[in-house]
Amino acid sequence: MRDANRNESEMTRRNFLRGASLTGAALAASGWPARRAWAAGLPSRQAQEAMSAPPLADAGFAAARKISEGIYAVVSDPTKGMETLCNGGFVVGKDAAILWEGYASPKGAAFQLDALGKASKTPVMAAIDSHYHFDHSFGNAQYAAAGIPIWAHAKVIPLMVERYISIQNRDKAAFFAPAEEHLRNAISEADKQHAEGDLNTLKFLANGIDHTVVALPSRSLDAAELPMKVDLGGREVVIETYPGHTPGDLILRVPDADVVFTGDLIFNHSYPVTFDADVLGWLKTLDVFGRYGRKTMFVPGHGAVCGQEGVELEKSVFADLAQHARQMAQMGVPLREAQARYAVPEQYKTLGLFAWGFCIDRAVAQFYQAAMDGKI
Ligand SMILES: [Zn+2]
Repeated sequence: MRDANRNESEMTRRNFLRGASLTGAALAASGWPARRAWAAGLPSRQAQEAMSAPPLADAGFAAARKISEGIYAVVSDPTKGMETLCNGGFVVGKDAAILWEGYASPKGAAFQLDALGKASKTPVMAAIDSHYHFDHSFGNAQYAAAGIPIWAHAKVIPLMVERYISIQNRDKAAFFAPAEEHLRNAISEADKQHAEGDLNTLKFLANGIDHTVVALPSRSLDAAELPMKVDLGGREVVIETYPGHTPGDLILRVPDADVVFTGDLIFNHSYPVTFDADVLGWLKTLDVFGRYGRKTMFVPGHGAVCGQEGVELEKSVFADLAQHARQMAQMGVPLREAQARYAVPEQYKTLGLFAWGFCIDRAVAQFYQAAMDGKI
């Protein structure tokens, strides 16, 4: 039994290292030019073409572009406004259209509806929130007002109620307490800065919660119903669920065009937000995406439309976090210190980082535990 366990953990470790090596040490080596291009973060040809097409609509904070016949991506630019914050898009068939994402505000959802109106007069079947996070759901009220059904994973409603509605316009002492305690007990200057950044993010979030009409999805998709094929008229889309980013994430695949809207299961050129993630499950999901074709176009939750290079980059970021956590665990460094001591390596300095505690701490904690359990 012990041997079996050891073999299994050894296999898991080897698989993991193999994944890590794709963008880790192997990148430094010369060899396959395509992989070197990924290393430099260069998008696939398909993604490059998609991002350089003239926009159908451009509001600064987001632009909508046609990336394939009947398929449009909305890519946000948070430096120009926070109305959308996440990416989304829509797929249009002969009989119906489906919208992807509820965005950070009704204005964001309105931008997407306007863009759809420019592309097609096809009736809207539904809008889908990829997951419950505020930047993917706080614009739902716009869809609800337009009579558009909102679909989401069955975990989304309970999470929106628990995390947003239950604390709306109420005292938020408990909401801020962990970050305040972290700040009081900071063990280094860097740790203090991380805690301050986390607290500012929580304040921003609290303000958003108090000033948003939170509209819940009108249809919950149970895991048992998924994957679910939807016929839009001459165009089939598939709604699937994968573990990783939150307890309930959906993706939208358009098989005939090889396009996948991934929600936050891909953060392109950013540290992934992991505060309610299952990082080991997420790595398996990235392996699934990695087995899609080299021409697959991903519309990530954040960042530019990408190909496999976006998947590889995210895997390599996770591998770096895992390597750090494993090393700390092996050295017997306490978890809190391990979290504080992670340093963003030179090659990831240009990556986005939403907030330390939301991205780094939980990932390090889970990898640290996995190392202690011999799973990585
Ligand atoms: Zn998210």
